[in-house]
This record gives sequence, structure tokens and C-alpha cells, in this order.
Amino acid sequence: PYEVLVVGGGPAGASAAIYAARKGIRTGVVAERFGGQVMDTVGIENFISVPYTEGPKLVASLEQHVKEYEVEVITEQSAAKLKKGELIEVELASGATLKSRSVILATGARWREMNVPGEQEYRGKGVAYCPHCDGPLFKGKRVAVIGGGNSGIEAAIDLAGLVKDVTVLEFADTLRADDVLVKKAESLPNITIIKQAMTTEVLGDGNKVIGLKYKDRRTDETHVLDVAGIFVQIGLVPNSEWLKDTLELTERGEIVIDGHGATSMPGVFAAGDVTHTPYKQIIISMGSGATAALGAFDHLIRN
Ligand code: FAD
Repeated sequence: PYEVLVVGGGPAGASAAIYAARKGIRTGVVAERFGGQVMDTVGIENFISVPYTEGPKLVASLEQHVKEYEVEVITEQSAAKLKKGELIEVELASGATLKSRSVILATGARWREMNVPGEQEYRGKGVAYCPHCDGPLFKGKRVAVIGGGNSGIEAAIDLAGLVKDVTVLEFADTLRADDVLVKKAESLPNITIIKQAMTTEVLGDGNKVIGLKYKDRRTDETHVLDVAGIFVQIGLVPNSEWLKDTLELTERGEIVIDGHGATSMPGVFAAGDVTHTPYKQIIISMGSGATAALGAFDHLIRN
């Protein structure tokens, strides 16, 4: 069996694996795809000490760093079940079972997409999901935020200080964001909020976004909005469906952890975007991967 088995090969999983392996204990990583969301990222400008890099390049260095150690990396395998026996067991979708004395869950999350024409084509070319990451790319330009929940309104307020103006499109007839955020957004002169608006298409010139189409759900009329950026803020979904009924999750499905990265199941730790800790970023998930590995090591030396 492994001493530490990491499920997930994004920045949180890679960092956990390196920290665990450096303790000289048998460490494994099992992941569907090494690199996680970083593989889908174009420019990265907030990975501290690296002013600019690109997703696949950062993933290659992550992989190289992991390979410096004796870590068994298994990719293209999906974890399907977590069980606690004498050891902790991770059952894979393929039917195989991996056993370990401790497990670190780092399965990340995925942004909910609009599923409209143009969204995929212009992903990273104006269609963005992370205001902290990509906001500065739209300095002085016009942008739209899709979604009027807390993350959408927060994004609008955040972007309003950087861009020319922000239009928020909300599908429902009310905003789900907290009152204090809505009041703040309404007080800013360069934010416009449109309710009952259904985004129907991302418009581009072949290279980048030039606007979007939305339907006014009251009148059925279609309108065009000229924007250079579209921030999709309709939810970040944790990859934790397979853990339901095994661990304590929040109502949004995020794994609840303590300050040592420990979950509600003894010997099982978690890190990164799949956990309930706020602010989903590369640098934050790497930090939490380190915490979870040190937490797991602490657990191992006590048991
Ligand atoms: P992930 O990166 O999501 O990795 C999850 C890992 O788990 C993957 O290896 C996946 O294959 C695996 N996995 C999932 N489910 C299973 C399963 N059941 N069994 C086995 N393996 C599984 N952050 C920044 O700091 N700066 C940026 O500029 C930036 N830009 C971004 C741009 C885009 C388009 C996106 C989508 C995100 C961006 N982020 C950025 C956010 C950042 O990518 C995430 O915060 C970070 O990748 C989270 O790391 P993680 O290891 O927790 O999860």
C-alpha cells in the first residue's frame, strides 16, 4: 500500500505529492489528467515569482518537479469510490482498487459553462472565467459579466475599477447576490445590471470576442452588446460527486477541511479547489496541497 495516495494531478495534487515524497514515504498520484485546470489556461500572470507563463508550460514544470521524486503517477484513471477499511481504499472507475494509509483528495473543480455558440471557440480569447486572473487584460475595455450571484456581482465590482464599463446579465428577475454587494454595484457609475437576460451567443471576429447576443426574456427581443470580454460567473462546481455520503461536504459539494487539511474521515485530507476554502487560485491550491501533505505526514507518525 501507499503511505500517501493523492487523488488529482492539478497544482494542489502535484504540490501534495512533492511534499509527501520529500518525507521519504511511498507516494502515489492518481489523476484523470495531469495538470488539471491549468492545462486549459492561456496566460498566467499571478503565479508569484513568475511574471508570465502559460498553462501547458506550468504543467510541464509541475510534472518535471514531481518526477524528481519517487512518486508513482497514474493518469487517465478516475476515482469512483472512497472506502475506509483497515487502510483507506480508492476504487477506480476501471474496477481496480488502490490502498493507502492516508489519502489526499485534490480533484479540483470546473467552471459551469453557458453552453452557447462561440463560448468554446473564444475561450481564452475574450471568454474568461476568473476575474482575478484575467481582469487586467481588459483594462479600459467594455466587458460583460454573466450571472448575478455573489461571484458575478463581486466580479463586476472588481472589474469596474479596471475596465471602461461592466454590464451584468442575470437570467432571473432578481439578483441572488447579497444585498450589500448589490448596493455597492448599483452605486458604481460604470456598472449596468440587466435582469431577465438570456445570453444566446458569443460574437467574435475570428480572433477575439467582439460582443454577445442576449434575449430579453420579457419581450423575446434579441439585443447585441459590444464587449471585448465576457466573464462567465454562473458557478464553480467541485469534482466531489463521487464522495457524497462518505465525507462532510458543504451544501455546494465542497469538502470541509480543517487547518491541517483534514476531512471528516480520519486519514483523509483534501486540498485545492475541491475544498470549502475561499479563493480558487493556483498559488492557493499549491499552498493547501503542501498543508494537506504535512497534515497527512503528521497523521501517519501518530498512528
Ligand atoms: P484542478 O486544477 O482542477 O485539478 C484537479 C485534478 O483532479 C486534475 O488532475 C483532474 O484530472 C483530477 N480529477 C478530477 N476528478 C477526478 C477523479 N474522480 N479521479 C481522478 N482524478 C480526478 N488560477 C490562477 O491562479 N491564475 C490564473 O491565471 C488562472 N486562470 C485560470 C483560467 C481558467 C480557464 C481556469 C479554468 C482556471 C484558472 N485558474 C487560475 C484557477 C486555477 O486553475 C485553479 O484554482 C487550480 O487549477 C486548482 O487546482 P486544483 O489542483 O485544486 O484542481
